Amino acid sequence: MLASQTQVARTWETREKVTPSAAPPAQPSIAIPPSPTVFEPLEATPELLAELVEQSARLESATPEEIIAWGVERFGSRLTMATAFGPEGCVILSMLAKIAPETYLFNLDTGYQFQQTLDLRDRIEEKYGLSVDMLQPELSVPEYEALHNGPLYKTNPTQCCFDRKIQLLQRGVEGRHAWMSGIRRDQSADRAEADILGWNKKFNLVKISPLANWTKQQVWKRITSEAIPYNPLHDQGYPSIGCWPCTQAVAAGESDERAGRWSGTAKTECGLHTIQESDGSGI
Ligand code: SF4
Repeated sequence: MLASQTQVARTWETREKVTPSAAPPAQPSIAIPPSPTVFEPLEATPELLAELVEQSARLESATPEEIIAWGVERFGSRLTMATAFGPEGCVILSMLAKIAPETYLFNLDTGYQFQQTLDLRDRIEEKYGLSVDMLQPELSVPEYEALHNGPLYKTNPTQCCFDRKIQLLQRGVEGRHAWMSGIRRDQSADRAEADILGWNKKFNLVKISPLANWTKQQVWKRITSEAIPYNPLHDQGYPSIGCWPCTQAVAAGESDERAGRWSGTAKTECGLHTIQESDGSGI
């Protein structure tokens, strides 16, 4: 057996084997009402923060579908989702396709994504009839690297992430009141305190994490049982997939899901999910 085949086998050994089954019964999607033409930014009023605390506690025992439906009904077309097409993102997209397929979806297309990630976007769109907006930085990769006398990810990855991810996220959430993410509490220490709902100070948005209390096993069980498309790199030893220069395969048995990202440095996050988001209760 080739080394890569061994890795594939090992990776799958860690997942629960589930026989693909028929898709669950169709449920009516939620019609998103049109937004007012004049955008009113959401303010972190005491009333809103209290609502988030109360609803977040209530939704702790809800299913991800119920959390997504709450977000759709509460924020309508002011709700959006950024996806990097990780396993969690693909699961949420499969749920959104049933609940509110017209939700505005976007990807931070840094110019450094794996071809497998770009191909996955096509597979997701085709299977679920969704449309994912690929937001790109103003400067192409050649222009950006020429500006900085070479790849900035080698010398200053924090700045590179800011220029090619954070700024895109700011553009993607413009005019929105809430965004969904696929983070799970058991992914890393940075994410362990994530609330189902939280206030994101940096972007002035409500952050909704429908899978916050799901486990890796639950995510993969859903992917397998519903044949949800996923990135084939996960079968080649990549537990977490970002830009290709900053992502590596890891040894079989590695338990840190963020291992392989910015390997060899202290950096573990691009900054999207490590911003102090609410008054002590966010991530
Ligand atoms: S993950 Fe790497 S290549 Fe991608 S934006 Fe961050 S530093 Fe740049």
